[in-house]
Amino acid sequence: MILIDGKQTAETIKAELALEVEHILKNGGKRPHLAAILVGNDGASETYIASKVKACKKVGFNSTLIRFPSDTSEEELLEEVLKINKDEDIDGLIVQLPLPKHISEKKVTETIVPEKDVDGFHPLNVGKLALNLPTFVSATPYGIMQLLERYRIETAGKHCVVIGRSNIVGSPVSILLSRNTYPGNCTVTLCHSRTPDIEKYTREADILVVALGKPGFVKANMVKQGVVVIDVGITRVEAPGTDKGYRIMGDVDFDEVAPKCSYITPVPGGVGPMTIVALLKNTLLSLSNKLSINH
Ligand code: NAP
Repeated sequence: MILIDGKQTAETIKAELALEVEHILKNGGKRPHLAAILVGNDGASETYIASKVKACKKVGFNSTLIRFPSDTSEEELLEEVLKINKDEDIDGLIVQLPLPKHISEKKVTETIVPEKDVDGFHPLNVGKLALNLPTFVSATPYGIMQLLERYRIETAGKHCVVIGRSNIVGSPVSILLSRNTYPGNCTVTLCHSRTPDIEKYTREADILVVALGKPGFVKANMVKQGVVVIDVGITRVEAPGTDKGYRIMGDVDFDEVAPKCSYITPVPGGVGPMTIVALLKNTLLSLSNKLSINH
């Protein structure tokens, strides 16, 4: 069994990005600039945003964090998005989800100009992904593709089973792995909460991508020997007596499943750190796109 080390891979990619930034600056270019908007003070969102800002600093990107209180109106938030859309210096904009209930996430996502939508959530970018056109691939699926690529995991002709069909993980992963490219060329089965007898599919999987948000859902009897397992799940589970009072668990029962795998991602330290570097890669891509338009 080979452990897919997302933390280490993310560090390697950060070092590559830092070199690219140096190269841009040497050639008279500007630092890539990511702006992030955080509404309210949800604990998990605070942690994610802090990691994104820290990662920007590490690779030499500029970052701007804009905070709004949880009672901010939708209009105020949209106004800020429109302002950033026009800001020439900002290459990428993310609005940390979830947003308070009185704000429409759909409206906010659709207001970000597609050229700065480094999360890849805008319908135009999702459409481009489905048509296999160049675009911002949303961060988590992009991170997963990078892991498969960097560990040189064979995907062509493999049966890939994805559990979960969300717009941010399961659905784009299923599209990406069925494309006629590498990583891709898989035969993909997409499972969800209405899939009966899910083990029937998971036992057939050469590659199993699990993104449903139910800790320890995948057990050893659900997978075949030699499977590649990508565990996307992140759930905070109460852990009395620990410093934080909780621990992070994946959707796969790692101890049971790992011995049967050819490759497996741990949680934490697997897909999570890759999501952040994918966002940085998209921000750099946004700057490069701008430069190629202006030249
Ligand atoms: P989501 O929007 O809640 O979607 C969950 C999906 O799982 C849905 O399609 C749902 O089916 C399906 N599902 C739920 N219960 C199921 C069951 N018993 N059997 C089969 N399918 C089931 O979740 P998400 O945003 O994709 O996130 C999934 C997990 O990944 C969460 O733990 C989240 O925290 C984590 N995540 C991690 C990262 C990262 O960076 N590592 C990034 C994003 C998300 P229906 O469509 O039928 O409801």
